This record gives sequence, structure tokens and C-alpha cells, in this order.
Amino acid sequence: MPDWQTLIRDVRDFPRPGVTFKDITPLLADADGYAAAIDAMAAPWRGVALDAVLGIEARGFILGAALARALGTGFVPIRKPGKLPGRTHAQAYALEYGSDRLEIHADDLPPGARVLIVDDVLATGGTLRAALALARRQGALVVGAAVLLEIAALGGRADWDDAVALEVTVGY
Ligand code: 5GP
Repeated sequence: MPDWQTLIRDVRDFPRPGVTFKDITPLLADADGYAAAIDAMAAPWRGVALDAVLGIEARGFILGAALARALGTGFVPIRKPGKLPGRTHAQAYALEYGSDRLEIHADDLPPGARVLIVDDVLATGGTLRAALALARRQGALVVGAAVLLEIAALGGRADWDDAVALEVTVGY
């Protein structure tokens, strides 16, 4: 395991009893670790034609903005409800209890823009699938998705669209 991966810490019983949360804040706080993580996430996409990285609020912003700089693309935020000031498209998705919604500005990208969706963690996969549906609704061509961590036991890959490349940097 590369050294930087040891900076990802397990926090037991967060945000609820019985859940072990993968906390990436020690990694982000370490200059070399953060750089190594971004280099590793960027590697599969170097040389791929991309117009923008779409980062999912909130940790997808931290990784996605750095990836956009590494890959020389623009950055477009996918946000929680009610945060974006312009006209938006929205996509609802199911949570363990209840549902949530993601939004994107309708005019941030031209139709057919080639995009990469970025988030920190793939768990059950609901968030990433909602972002994929939203990007398509917006008219983007989704070239792929990149996540720093996958918690494979939660089976998030099962319902992923196999036509869209999904790159995971660290698997658990
Ligand atoms: P999913 O929709 O795949 O079940 O959950 C993924 C979303 O929840 C991501 O946006 C991610 O930020 C957050 N998430 C779920 N579990 C964890 C975790 O253990 N650590 C971190 N950092 N985020 C998580």
C-alpha cells in the first residue's frame, strides 16, 4: 500500500452507531499525501479529451477541483438542493432513510461537453448514479467517473452503467 493511503482513517460509529466512516481529512491535510492522491486519481484520465470535471458536494469539490487543475479542464459543481443561484436541473435519489436531491446549473456546460464525474467515496452507489443521470439530463457526454475510495462490500458498482468507465483509486 502506498504511504499516502495510510492517511485515510477509520472512524467507528460515525455518523451513526454501527457505521465505520472512511475519513480523508488527514490525507487532505498532508501536502505530499494530497498531491499523491490527486496524481493517482488523475493518472487514468491523462490524454483523455475532457472539457470539465463535475464534482459532487462536498468532498467531491475538494478532489474534483484539484483534478480539474491536474487535467487542465473546467470545474462544474453538483450541489445539494437550493445552493445554486441559476436555473438548475435536479435529480432525486434514495437514501437509507428517505431521499435527497442533487442539482446542477442548466447552463454551465454546452450540450455534448465531455465530462468526468468525481466524488470521494463509492458506497451504495446512489449518489454517483444520481450524478450520472443529472449530467446526462444536462446534455453532457459522461466519459467516466473517478472516486478515491470504493467500499466494495456495499455493492455500489452493481447498478453502475457499464458503458461509463469507473475508476477507483483505493478499494476496501
Ligand atoms: P453512496 O451514495 O454511494 O451510498 O454514498 C456515497 C456518498 O456518501 C459520497 O458522496 C460520500 O461522500 C459519502 N460517504 C458515504 N460513506 C462514506 C465514508 O465512509 N467516508 C466518506 N468520506 N464519505 C462517505
